Amino acid sequence: MTVLADRFGRIATDLRVSLTDRCNLRCTYCMPAEGLAWMPQPEQLTDDEVSRLVRIAVEQLGVTEVRFTGGEPLIRRGLVGIIAAAAKLTPKPKLSVTSNGIGLDRIAISLKEAGLDRVNVSLDTLDPARFHTLTRRDRHSDVLAGLRAAAEAGLTPVKINTVLMRGVNDDEAPALLRFALDHGYQLRFIEQMPLDAQHQWDRHVMVTAEEILAALEPFALQPDDVSRGTAPAETWLIPGYTDAAGQPARVGVIASVTRPFCGDCDRTRLTADGQVRNCLFATDESDLRKLLRGGATDDRIAEAWRAAMWGKRAGHGIDDPTFLQPARPMSAIGG
Ligand code: SAM
Ligand code: SF4
Repeated sequence: MTVLADRFGRIATDLRVSLTDRCNLRCTYCMPAEGLAWMPQPEQLTDDEVSRLVRIAVEQLGVTEVRFTGGEPLIRRGLVGIIAAAAKLTPKPKLSVTSNGIGLDRIAISLKEAGLDRVNVSLDTLDPARFHTLTRRDRHSDVLAGLRAAAEAGLTPVKINTVLMRGVNDDEAPALLRFALDHGYQLRFIEQMPLDAQHQWDRHVMVTAEEILAALEPFALQPDDVSRGTAPAETWLIPGYTDAAGQPARVGVIASVTRPFCGDCDRTRLTADGQVRNCLFATDESDLRKLLRGGATDDRIAEAWRAAMWGKRAGHGIDDPTFLQPARPMSAIGG
């Protein structure tokens, strides 16, 4: 097997697959209120096309972990079938979904039975009114129901992703952590990144990892004894707490902006229209859909995927004066 290597010695084993660019929320840091010009249906990969690319990634390119995301992956009708197909691969990849949690209460058991291992659910506030302001939809209770259902279905550890925004929800870090600890969820704070469709990200307004950790001082966090490896989250132990599995409880911070981890990146990304992206912040893409629909063999597709990864840049370059935000927003790349 020839793996997905790049010129800097990194090997991509973690595949993020976006299943749709559509979403039932309108988080202010992600999308404008009116939504976006959605991808036309014929441009989106079919379920079989997605499954074929996931199979090539696992069988021919050494991918060991697949996360389905979007947009909102739970609104993709074929999701359970796509998970089931991925779960039948040998060796079976670790399978997870990143979701806003809406509708998870209805589908969690089917996802588990199909072979899904875990979910990450995004939740930025414990206050329903604030949730409405932040997401422009009144669905807070649906997200909480989704979290509960995921834990009950055994999609564990259930992780919560939180983005803090200054003056909006940055006073909630301790309360969110307490909520996560009380329910056995693992909380990870994500620094806001310049990937919003509106191009309104402002480095000086963004809540930094340092500020997040300062807000968590009451928990007397301790450095973690487990190596971070290629994981994006830096984790801390929370003295006096254990998680749902009885292990020491941890909290994570994904400091993509202020403490970039590009040197250890093991990601490769596939958009819902079949483009390989070698980085969230890449400004170019490689078209696998054209190959798929042009009758290319698995070997030819694998070769194009390898070539796409070889060109990966050393880092995202957010601090570089020449940095250009990618044309696709986070919701269309797959976060
Ligand atoms: N809709 C799903 C969700 O919200 O979990 C999956 C897609 S969403 C793009 C994936 C993750 O990206 C979410 O946790 C969301 O909070 C995060 N996200 C979206 N825009 C972001 C931004 N500009 N900076 C940092 N994280 C962002
Ligand atoms: Fe939708 Fe997720 Fe973007 Fe929120 S962050 S608008 S839930 S894709």
